[in-house]
Amino acid sequence: MKRRNRIYGFILIFGFSLFTFFTACSNDDTEITPNYTDLTQLDKDALLFMLEEEKLARDTYRYLDNLWSISVFSNIKNSEQTHMNAISNLLNLNYVEYIILPEGEFENQDLQNYYNMFVTNGRISQDNALQIGATIEDLDIVDLEHYLTATTNLEIIAVFNSLQCGSRNHLRSFISSIESNGATYEPQFLTQDEFNQIINNTHEQCN
Ligand code: ZN
Ligand code: ZN
Repeated sequence: MKRRNRIYGFILIFGFSLFTFFTACSNDDTEITPNYTDLTQLDKDALLFMLEEEKLARDTYRYLDNLWSISVFSNIKNSEQTHMNAISNLLNLNYVEYIILPEGEFENQDLQNYYNMFVTNGRISQDNALQIGATIEDLDIVDLEHYLTATTNLEIIAVFNSLQCGSRNHLRSFISSIESNGATYEPQFLTQDEFNQIINNTHEQCN
């Protein structure tokens, strides 16, 4: 009887160790395997497009900063690099391949056309340059909103919300520069209501 109990005891302990061994293994597996396998093609396209749109902002502000040396451009161009990095990180985590073209060059033809137009118009006057800054942020907020409503991916939602928060701050900075020069900006992509709501708000702390 005693011997049999010992065998049962052994089986019990052996079984339990096997159980913990496999549980530990499967836990390790979930830690090693990235948790980012659920990106749809739409999500990938959204990230790739927004990466280039952030690049449009960065490259345009770099160009206008060199041209006019207005402090608002030098401050915000660095923030656009941070926005690009946030999207690149998500692409890397999801093993999505991407390339960042040299300054002033874009894969997307619409963005290329925007850049060419901004560079031409931005040379005309400082007010034009500031209007271009506001236009880019205006466009950015609307495009991010479009992609935010189209995705259920929580990582993308978090990053795009943070970028959109940054863009609202940038828009407020450009508008205050425009207005301190005695000019005004008419929203081109946002509705007048959406625009007023942003402008009447104060600087936000973005994640
Ligand atoms: Zn941005
Ligand atoms: Zn911006």
